[in-house]
Order: sequence, then C-alpha cells, then structure tokens
Amino acid sequence: MNQLPTKYPYLPTWCPGCGNFGIMNAIKMAILKSGIPREKFVVVYDIGCAGNMADFLDLYGFHGLHGRALPPAAGIKLANHDLKVIVVIGDGGCYGEGATHFINLMRGNHDITVLVHDNHRYSLTTGQMSPTTDQGTKTKSTPEGALEVPMKPLALAVSNHATFIAREFSGNIPQLSMRIGQAIAHEGFSLIDTLQICSVYNPTQDLKWYKEHTVGLEMIGHDPSDKAAAWARAMEEDKLPVGLFYQEKRPAYHQLVSELQSATLLNHDKSVVKMDELLNEYR
Ligand code: SF4
Repeated sequence: MNQLPTKYPYLPTWCPGCGNFGIMNAIKMAILKSGIPREKFVVVYDIGCAGNMADFLDLYGFHGLHGRALPPAAGIKLANHDLKVIVVIGDGGCYGEGATHFINLMRGNHDITVLVHDNHRYSLTTGQMSPTTDQGTKTKSTPEGALEVPMKPLALAVSNHATFIAREFSGNIPQLSMRIGQAIAHEGFSLIDTLQICSVYNPTQDLKWYKEHTVGLEMIGHDPSDKAAAWARAMEEDKLPVGLFYQEKRPAYHQLVSELQSATLLNHDKSVVKMDELLNEYR
C-alpha cells in the first residue's frame, strides 16, 4: 500500500522554525500523491542539516559524503532505472563542493530529482558563508562581510542544459509539493532550488523577508518553454522569481545507454558475464 507510516522511530531534531520541516512534508505529500509505490523511491542525502532527514524519512536511502550525493544518485539510477531517485542536499553541498557533479549530471540529463535546501549558509557547521550568501553578509566565516558576489544556481542550470528548473519556497508546502510531484514525473534532470528558512544562522531571511522578496512566475506571465526568458528570470536581482523556470523534453542518460535498452542493469543475465576475463585485463 502506498502509505508512509505515521510513526517514526526518530523525530526531527531541526530547530523550531526551520524550513526543513516544510520541505520534508512536501516530499511526503508528493510521494503519496504520485501513486508510485514508496519502495520504488530512493532518497540520497548529502551531509548537512537537510541530510539529517535520512533519520526521519522512512524510505530507501543512502547518506553520501559532503558534496558527493549526486554521483551515487546517478549510479543508483543506472543500476536500476525503474527507481525514482531523489537527492536531498544543501546549497553548500550542491553548489559548493558538489558543483562539478551538479554541472555534469545536468549536461547528461541524468533522471534524478535534486532538491536543494537553499538557506544561503553552511548551517550544520554553525552558519558559515555558502556560494549563495549575499555579498556583504556577515557570517561566522566572513566577519567583515562576504566579498564574493553570490552564485546564480538557476542560471547555471539553464546554461548547462538541465531539462526541469524550478525555484520554490519552503513556507509554501502545497506549491512545493506540487512542484516536487512534477519533478518526479519529469524524465531527466530536475532541479528545485528551494528557498529554505534557517531561523538560527540566517534569521534575516525569514517568512516576512521571503514574502517581500519573491514573486510568482505565473503572476508575470512567464513561459517555461522559453529558454532565453528562463535565463533572464534566473539572473534577476530585485525580486527572486518562484515557480517553473524551464522545462524541455530530451532523452535521459539511461535511455541513451545501449546496454540498458532491453532491461535494467540489475536484471541483466549475469551468468553471461565472464568475470575472470574481465579481471585478467587488469592483471
Ligand atoms: Fe534548520 Fe538552520 Fe537549525 Fe539547521 S541550523 S536545523 S538549517 S534552522
């Protein structure tokens, strides 16, 4: 039965007011609504406050190293492309340490859904500057204010050929859940940059701040099939657009691998593999 248990052995340990509560609920709602059996989902967690969700979500999962959640996610999909693979990762892990993986998996259109919990800080390690921290912001690692200008992750996604690009807010659970459902259904690389409240290390960007500094893409008549318009929206400075920036249909990576056309790698006939011959090549 496609139901998530209502009782969990461990309750979330996130701080009161943390946006991770909303994102986790949105994931659960999207999975329940998808109609896909929950044993068909695998969630790959990065290290960070977001990654602690590994202890609270009763789904198949893998907890990767910091910044390295994307490669095992791609590997899981290639090993068994019948699975739906979701990555839970922070802005530091995805856009900092994991940026090379992020760029190259988008180019390959690997069929994984990447949920970036973007709170503009390294929060698990007590609030250092991340790639999306605003210039001039004072953090524990930038006591005189951040010197770098922040990364534009959605522009990076547009320019590196991601086929589903969205931004949502952790405080709008119904819309975030709906978007996660779309991303799960999308065949190819899907990114949802989720603006996440960190009530402890980024208290300025709270619910009120996000209400004042975001604007819905549907309110401004954006066409998600228009790549040039998606780029322009991704580069906007004044107000952060929220919604679906861009979506296109392109074969996913596993659909282009000839060996995976007849069956998942998992279901290949392993008796025909001559392991001794293979190993001898490396001796
Ligand atoms: Fe959430 Fe920030 Fe607390 Fe981490 S430090 S649990 S991101 S509120």
